[in-house]
Amino acid sequence: MLEYFFSHNSLKEVSSIKNLLNRKKHKLENLDFDEAFEEYNQAKIFFDKVKQIALDTRNEKLANATFIAQLYFHIFSNIAIYFSLLQSKSYKESWNKLQDCLDDIYGVGQFVVRSKRLELPFLNKLLRECEKLYPYRMFASSEYIITKSECSICGKAMNSLSCPHIKGNLYWGEIAYENILEIKEINAVALVSNPEDKRCVMELADNNRSKIEKYAMLDKFLAQKIYFFQLFEVKDNKIFKRDENIKKQGANELCMCGSGKKFKKCCKSKMYYEHHHLQVILKEKCNFTYF
Ligand SMILES: [Zn+2]
Ligand SMILES: [Zn+2]
Repeated sequence: MLEYFFSHNSLKEVSSIKNLLNRKKHKLENLDFDEAFEEYNQAKIFFDKVKQIALDTRNEKLANATFIAQLYFHIFSNIAIYFSLLQSKSYKESWNKLQDCLDDIYGVGQFVVRSKRLELPFLNKLLRECEKLYPYRMFASSEYIITKSECSICGKAMNSLSCPHIKGNLYWGEIAYENILEIKEINAVALVSNPEDKRCVMELADNNRSKIEKYAMLDKFLAQKIYFFQLFEVKDNKIFKRDENIKKQGANELCMCGSGKKFKKCCKSKMYYEHHHLQVILKEKCNFTYF
């Protein structure tokens, strides 16, 4: 789909889109995250024109490819916002933007064959690794019953015989989705570790942790000033350190800290403490595709 769209060299609009996209990628490569949507908004005008051409010439494949190419362009703008939020340590906001990026990547990826996905497998891997730096592990997922919905394309009830569209498929450059008009009731809210949508973060167990503790991994990662478009793997090496302030004593002696308890029931257990050593293993850099 991407290849098909960008192969339309005869259309001047496609050339303009290519130039804008190259400029956007070049900015990203140089870690310039300013005006994230500048190029995208300019390109949008050209995308609209190409779509119109596709409709006028009854070329559904081109209309659909235009939709995918536009979403592909969108990814790079979202990524610029993500990394600028990360740089400014707006961690909570950056988490939601990270999910937007992953959604866009998935959206394009499902319509493009594996070997033609360009930077997407790399970016997906990179962002999945970034996810691991966050303290979020549990998410809320609500369950409900949809009582009234319609197809975004024909307006008829989806899953009924009168609607010929399949949810998630492309038709003349538009994706068919279910427009929910009425929800009956929220039956339950489930706690899950790997939901489709990870935006609803549960922070129950984190209440007694300070903000600094919570985002320590991200702070440590940023402090290493690693190039953002380099793949990495984080290893959390747990080691035990000896607290030199606690002198070794007989187990049944009164503890030297003055608590009045026996050493074995007091400071003996604190002689060794857990220490996290964050190790970042660097891997390959991103090969941006220039058209
Ligand atoms: Zn329909
Ligand atoms: Zn003690």
